[in-house]
Amino acid sequence: MHYRKKFIVEPDKKVHLDKIDPSYIGKHDSHQQAMPEIEEHVARMAKMQYLLYADGNQSLLVILQTRDAAGKDGVVRHLFSGVNPQGTSVVGFKQPSKDEAAHDFLWRAHQHTPAKGEIVVFNRSHYEDVLVVRVHKLVEKAVWSKRYDLINDFETMLTNNGTRILKFFLHISPEEQLSRFKQRLDDPARNWKISDADYSERELWPKYTKAYEETLKRTSTPHAPWYVIPANHKWFRNLAISEIIVDTMDEMGLKLPPSHVDLEDIRNKYHAAEEKQAGMKGKVEVGHKKNKKSKSKA
Ligand code: AMP
Ligand code: MG
Repeated sequence: MHYRKKFIVEPDKKVHLDKIDPSYIGKHDSHQQAMPEIEEHVARMAKMQYLLYADGNQSLLVILQTRDAAGKDGVVRHLFSGVNPQGTSVVGFKQPSKDEAAHDFLWRAHQHTPAKGEIVVFNRSHYEDVLVVRVHKLVEKAVWSKRYDLINDFETMLTNNGTRILKFFLHISPEEQLSRFKQRLDDPARNWKISDADYSERELWPKYTKAYEETLKRTSTPHAPWYVIPANHKWFRNLAISEIIVDTMDEMGLKLPPSHVDLEDIRNKYHAAEEKQAGMKGKVEVGHKKNKKSKSKA
């Protein structure tokens, strides 16, 4: 498929979330049918992450933003299972600590951006500072309204330093959210995920819609695009996101770097070491036999 093209938010284009079907599944009809494709993407991501790490010139930042229970944790669990933990990390953004709150809003995000060769996934991000912060009026409009441009500048700077940025908004319906809240209540293994705030935030659904729509419009840029991913079906969400990630990594032209040593010279050293090792082994064996003899004599 071409989910990159289908779900991208064009820069400056007004987004109407109500007009985007969160239950979309394209030509696919079931999880089972999509599974081989998802697995192939996950395997390719692992291969390309190896190249990214070996090459050490570029990095990848994946940003996940959603309403509650829309599946950020599921994306991390399902899609990043195959990548090597060396070179990959996931950063969750909770309410800012005292220290974080005492700095500018991009400070904590900047500390976790990927170094060259790395993949970093932001589970929530600096976008909370134009979402929850706006909806709850945690700062004045005069402050948050300037942040869209600041975010764009920040992401441009990261891009110029070799970071590819992909931003996903996981789009679910209010009905689907409620059914996931129920699962959290009914399944003891999920009880720990329940929070009071889930319900108070839900009450603010239309305000969040407005805040998301403005964010998507103003911060989707050619170098750091937003994708609105239909996420009522978890398997479709995983399929679309994994496809967009592998297609992007394909484009990054990742390849193994040439060796930084003279391979002919190292080959000679290897053969010399091999001969020496063989010689030492011979001596040890002779010595061992001698010992045996002297022992049997005694
Ligand atoms: P969760 O992701 O469910 O663990 O919840 C984390 C909570 O932290 C969410 O309610 C976020 O909205 C909140 N949060 C994250 N960043 C900020 C921020 N900059 N200011 C205020 N609340 C935040
Ligand atoms: Mg939560």
